[in-house]
Amino acid sequence: MNLSLIVPVYNEQDNLPLLFEAIDQTMSTLGRTWEVIFVDDGSQDNSLPILTQHAEKDPEHVRVVSFRRNFGQTAAIAAGLDYSQGEIIILLDADMQNDPSDIPMLLEKLDEGYDLVSGWRKERKDNAITRNFPSMLANKLISSVTGVELHDYGCTLKAYRRPVLEGFRLYGEMHRFIPVFANSVGARITEVVVNHHPRRFGHTKYGLERTVKVVLDLFTVKFLVSFSSKPIYLFGGTGLVLMAISALLMLYLFFRRIFFLVGVTGSPLFQTSTMFFILGFQSMLMGLIAELLVRTYHESQRKTTYTVRTKINLDKHD
Ligand code: UDP
Ligand code: MG
Repeated sequence: MNLSLIVPVYNEQDNLPLLFEAIDQTMSTLGRTWEVIFVDDGSQDNSLPILTQHAEKDPEHVRVVSFRRNFGQTAAIAAGLDYSQGEIIILLDADMQNDPSDIPMLLEKLDEGYDLVSGWRKERKDNAITRNFPSMLANKLISSVTGVELHDYGCTLKAYRRPVLEGFRLYGEMHRFIPVFANSVGARITEVVVNHHPRRFGHTKYGLERTVKVVLDLFTVKFLVSFSSKPIYLFGGTGLVLMAISALLMLYLFFRRIFFLVGVTGSPLFQTSTMFFILGFQSMLMGLIAELLVRTYHESQRKTTYTVRTKINLDKHD
């Protein structure tokens, strides 16, 4: 299997027939083996019967996974990945805001040697105040914190080579951070401008609150990517800084006592210094505990601390 399309579906009954047609049209011109996996995320409308009917009509290409309840878009994408077989994975929204006719362009980019091609909705057709503007800020923030410069993390339409999707699991709202994880395993990443259409049927499942979730997720992602194999660098580093501040304060109080005869314990700086020392020391200890956890994590799953792109004359070592 060459290509797997993964489409999360939550209450999209009116969009599905259009989507089926658009997908068939594009895929039939590609000359690749392909499948499309629709993940019904506990829809309450007629999405599931419509998907079932479509799957019966085209059993060669269409697969459906249906959740017992709504687990969210990220979970739907994770399930799609679990059940997919393609060497190349393309994610796509079901609401026809993404355009399946952009797929050949993404594939062309992959063929140039990239491992991940990210869609960029340059002319995004969503609510400017609740969606586009916060999303622009979020993209800038994510790019600068993670060092993976993309204009549109939120665009679902992206193409991936399977190996860069392995080795991490998706939690919370984290599917948008796949490029960050992929970058951490050494993926070559690029982006292309894709079409975006206003929603014609149904309505968006998200609002301003998602930006908050994204920012919180960013903390987790940054920590996982930068420190998950060496947490003591973060905790120990913080601890050292706090303890250094504590020591400087103490030194200051000490000299003041000697040369100017000002009492040490009367000054609020004394309490501050003590507090910084305790916090710093605790932080170091937390780092050590985190180091233990990291070892359990990597060794229980036999996870390596590196990823390999190619091997030569080493086939026996799989
Ligand atoms: N979706 C889903 N589960 C959810 C919410 C959304 O599977 O809990 C799907 C939805 O059907 C659509 C895609 O995720 O295919 C993107 O959702 P939406 O269009 O509401 O997001 P927006 O385009 O407004 O960011
Ligand atoms: Mg949408």
